[in-house]
Amino acid sequence: MRNNLFILSGPSGSGKNTVYDGVAALIPEIAQTVSVTTRPPREGEVDGVDYYFVSVKEFERKIRNDELVEFVKYGDHYYGTLRSEIERLKKAGKIVVLIIEVRGALNVKRVFPEAESIFILPPSMDVLRQRIENRGQNSVEETEKRLRIAEQELLQKGFYDHCVINDDLDVCVNEVADIIRKGVQ
Ligand code: 5GP
Repeated sequence: MRNNLFILSGPSGSGKNTVYDGVAALIPEIAQTVSVTTRPPREGEVDGVDYYFVSVKEFERKIRNDELVEFVKYGDHYYGTLRSEIERLKKAGKIVVLIIEVRGALNVKRVFPEAESIFILPPSMDVLRQRIENRGQNSVEETEKRLRIAEQELLQKGFYDHCVINDDLDVCVNEVADIIRKGVQ
């Protein structure tokens, strides 16, 4: 059967969002779901485009109303995937991609076992640290927290259907695009 649901996951700093942008340029039918989060917007982030930014109270209401396929507390904030987002994009005939962290990815696999999961690996922990630091959007504590989470997340790579190293971006983008093209055939 044709699969049109993919999970793109990997630690913060693995470059999964950049990889997604590269793949989207090659496969125009793909679309990513917009997640809901209680994290405050970073400079330049737009509500409804990067995330739906909500209060903790609103997020907890969504949990109670069963609006989320999965959710996690990552660092100090909640993040979750809206059921309505997946349905909206599927109805529009899109190949749906969830760009989420590792625990969420494993939970989505439980709800949608047919979803194909792709793990983006950094070439090394040193490179990962550099990427998180260069982003310049996280405090020192936040960077350390993200690195500790990343170490735990990397231990989960065996649960994924595919692992791709993001060393050379173009190579990585092409590998992920190939996986998606094969998956939808
Ligand atoms: P950031 O704060 O850097 O935007 O996101 C932190 C982490 O949460 C990233 O690994 C990001 O991919 C992940 N994330 C974003 N949205 C979701 C979601 O809906 N569910 C889960 N489980 N993780 C998410």
